[in-house]
Amino acid sequence: MTTAINNILQKDALDRNDLITLLTATAPADIELIRSAAEKTLLAKCGNKVFYRGLIEFSNLCVCDCDYCGIRKSNHSVNRYTLSKDEIIAAAKWCAEQGYGSVVLQSGERRDAAFTDFLEDVIAEIKSATASEKLPNGAGITLSVGEQEPQSYERFYKAGAHRYLLRIEASDPKLFASIHPQDQSQERRIDCLKTLRQIGYQVGTGVMIGIPGQTAENLADDVLFFRDMDVDMIGMGPYIVHNATPMGVYAGYYNESKDRIFQTALLMIAVCRLALKDVNIASTTALQAMRDDGRELGLRYGANVIMPQTTPVDVRRDYLLYEGKPCIDEDAAHCRTCLEMRIRSVGREVAVDDWGDSKKALRKSKSNNNKNNMEGTMPIVMIMEGPPPLRGEPYPTL
Ligand code: SF4
Repeated sequence: MTTAINNILQKDALDRNDLITLLTATAPADIELIRSAAEKTLLAKCGNKVFYRGLIEFSNLCVCDCDYCGIRKSNHSVNRYTLSKDEIIAAAKWCAEQGYGSVVLQSGERRDAAFTDFLEDVIAEIKSATASEKLPNGAGITLSVGEQEPQSYERFYKAGAHRYLLRIEASDPKLFASIHPQDQSQERRIDCLKTLRQIGYQVGTGVMIGIPGQTAENLADDVLFFRDMDVDMIGMGPYIVHNATPMGVYAGYYNESKDRIFQTALLMIAVCRLALKDVNIASTTALQAMRDDGRELGLRYGANVIMPQTTPVDVRRDYLLYEGKPCIDEDAAHCRTCLEMRIRSVGREVAVDDWGDSKKALRKSKSNNNKNNMEGTMPIVMIMEGPPPLRGEPYPTL
């Protein structure tokens, strides 16, 4: 197989069959070839820096019922919380003071007016509270708050958020349907991704690797989906079972498949790096949940973003999307020291006071600016018409 792998690695553009061959490599020598090619591509296209996004999981209230998720609305054993505005801003300020150029505001999904107003305020206040000589425009803000009305996306963007992560989880419609309740539609999620792009966000998406029934063909199609959606960043993770969910029935499958799932998750990072070159790719906490050195391995396979935990420790235990999540007891300062050590151990450097936008996003924005200079002005925020239909579920209030 090594010759076939080597031939694929010489190509600049990979087709579906190439992706499948790379994703199904099992011989250690082949895997090392793929890993090392991905690492070289990363260093050549994006450099040696690892970008931090301080992760603030500000609320675990959610109106959705994803079959795999520990904080789904039907899990009544979860202690629900929403951080106060002051708590979120204090966490964001701490991140900026430590040199983290960006934060991620993540929560379960809500679309009620109180939530939208609250988040819009929080974004605007973070921007002004974190502005300094080193970060004149405040911290970069990535949102990860699920499917929203186009108008809400616009309000968040105007308030200062400029990146949005919305995972598709599975690009294959049948696989998507197998892990979500009927009223959650893949089409609507794709519409949301398009809307985010039209508004001007840098857009990220990702999938879960190792879902029961998933094939190498599915994963290859996921990579093609990322390419076709022209995403700027990717946040993927291995599937990890949560017993208090409908997919808890797969605990046996999960325990038997753990090693394969972990290795495939690393290969997906490498293959995305080889196929998409200069996007940002996160080495997610879920990798570390499966193996202590999981995040370092993610970096060695081509990832360049890490999201250190900065959610207050007293609520961190209540934001468990999957079981075995690491760093739930360590305070943010401890997480930071521990991570820095891990990053240096694989020969990489932490970027300081840098928003850490992907090279791809910077390249696109430069070419848009050039176009605008030549063609006149172009609105940054495009007004969207006809919001996609939303589920008529009761919304919790703050
Ligand atoms: S995955 Fe997200 S949207 Fe789905 S139940 Fe969990 S928090 Fe809610």
